[in-house]
Amino acid sequence: MEISTQSNFIRDIIEKDLSSGKHDQVVTRFPPEPNGYLHIGHAKSICLNFGVARDFGGRCHLRFDDTNPRKEDPEYVRSIMNDVRWLGFDWGEHLYHASDYFDQLYEYGLELIKRGKAYVCSLSPQEIRQYRGTLTEPGKNSPFRDRSLDENLKLFQAMKKGQFDEGTHVLRAKIDMSSPNINLRDPVIFRIVNADHHRTGYSWCIYPTYDYAHCLSDSIEEITHSLCSLEFQDHRPLYDWILDQLPVSCHPRQIEFARLNLNYTVMSKRKLARLVSEGHVRSWDDPRMPTLSGLRRRGYTPESIRRFCDLIGVAKSDNIVDMSMLEYCAREDLNKKAPRFMAVLNPVKLIITNYPEDMDEELEAINNPEDESMGTRKVPFSRELYIEFDDFMENPPKKFFRLAPGREVRLRYAYFVTCEKVVKDQATGDIREIHCNYDPATKGGDAPDNRRVKATLHWVSARHAGKAEVRLYDRLFSRANPTEDEKKGIDFLEYINPDSLKVLDSCFIEPGLADLCPGDHCQFERLGYFCVDPDSQPDKPVFNRTATLRDAWARIQKKTG
Ligand code: ATP
Ligand code: MG
Repeated sequence: MEISTQSNFIRDIIEKDLSSGKHDQVVTRFPPEPNGYLHIGHAKSICLNFGVARDFGGRCHLRFDDTNPRKEDPEYVRSIMNDVRWLGFDWGEHLYHASDYFDQLYEYGLELIKRGKAYVCSLSPQEIRQYRGTLTEPGKNSPFRDRSLDENLKLFQAMKKGQFDEGTHVLRAKIDMSSPNINLRDPVIFRIVNADHHRTGYSWCIYPTYDYAHCLSDSIEEITHSLCSLEFQDHRPLYDWILDQLPVSCHPRQIEFARLNLNYTVMSKRKLARLVSEGHVRSWDDPRMPTLSGLRRRGYTPESIRRFCDLIGVAKSDNIVDMSMLEYCAREDLNKKAPRFMAVLNPVKLIITNYPEDMDEELEAINNPEDESMGTRKVPFSRELYIEFDDFMENPPKKFFRLAPGREVRLRYAYFVTCEKVVKDQATGDIREIHCNYDPATKGGDAPDNRRVKATLHWVSARHAGKAEVRLYDRLFSRANPTEDEKKGIDFLEYINPDSLKVLDSCFIEPGLADLCPGDHCQFERLGYFCVDPDSQPDKPVFNRTATLRDAWARIQKKTG
């Protein structure tokens, strides 16, 4: 795999820690909660964590942060492992779960109590919120803050044994209710949850909170650099406080970086889950979703996503990346890899009246002009073809150079043809057929007299063509920031783009395309990059458009300002 060439402040820190001898080896981790599918933002974190481990000869753990049994599911665990591997990274034997440490985390809870650093609080969840204060007002001490060590131990042990109902007691760290940092106002570190955990079943009914479990899991695994997104900056004092109170041998350094934000989509798993559960998309892997499984189904390659993560870099302040940058990375990679084919999405029949009815020919076509080693193929040609409806105009305006009555154009890899007649439906006036003459001397696409044409059209032979369904995608939201009006009470779902999916179900494809398998990439000449969808049937493949050939979106934006 390519080594990242981009330096960043985190790589600088690691380099320094290695050369100063602070660490012999860098150990990082990617810690997803299995409560949804991974998205492109997670890819940034994966590329960073696994990337530095790879480039500095260290290791990176995959750790499931499975401390919320009600929201987590083995389906998510499977999809996460699959997506990380697909992106090209390998955790080797270093697969861990916060739930692996439940015993140890409980022991540490007892230890905090014994050291006078934690207490069982019996306020209701609402009361705990009220006592916490606000950004401008300090909190108030819980009336249970001064319980005796013995009472705390007994209550915490009884919590573990399942003797209490949910919400009746929690274990809290005893820090400072008047701290300007709300995270330090005696945060809850264990709560009672009576739910089936996907790994530990009902053996536990108390669960550690994220802040408590995360730093200790990092420490148990001897992580050297705990890289997380910026919203955890205010949690860092708590991360350090917990490790400082306990007899741990490893105190990892938390370093925050800006999370990836992309326009025209949403990235929070809660919001992505709503898109799925409320039926706005078909599934987590709907090709419009910013999930890794959606991008994969859309036709993104792991290389294109890694390249994207490299291009956006890693910085300390938040910004919003334009979706067209992601598409640029898809084009750049697929241009090198995708074999070219011809397919007609909005067909109209073109009949070559001077071409013999029972004849057909096999014409040679280049598979990829960017890569000679991909060779050539034979494409069947005959008297009746399909071309794109858009490539013909009966009364063309000045700048339209494609087919029109009396005009000559090139059929790619075939012949020059001249339009001599248009046949219309008598009742509706719709164009039914375009009749042309061909010049046999132009076989292969060049005229012996060097006469020129202004356009080259793609086509498929009607008799040989296969049928296909083609799905064209646009941005899922019509607003760059779909959540911008949430404060005004306007749900992000109001800004769904109603035209994000267009299904064309009577497209024609050259025969060679029928041999592709789900997941295979190709370019339809002049139309874009496409990928075979798993919905394909043997007699009717389905293609997803990954990206157009050029960035029509950026051009439109430039024009309209
Ligand atoms: P979400 O808000 O989408 O639910 P999360 O942060 O709760 O995301 P986790 O499963 O906890 O999801 O994330 C695992 C790791 O991925 C965390 O270390 C988190 O910082 C990182 N991560 C999540 N979203 C992004 C993002 N948009 N950009 C960069 N890193 C991210
Ligand atoms: Mg999270």
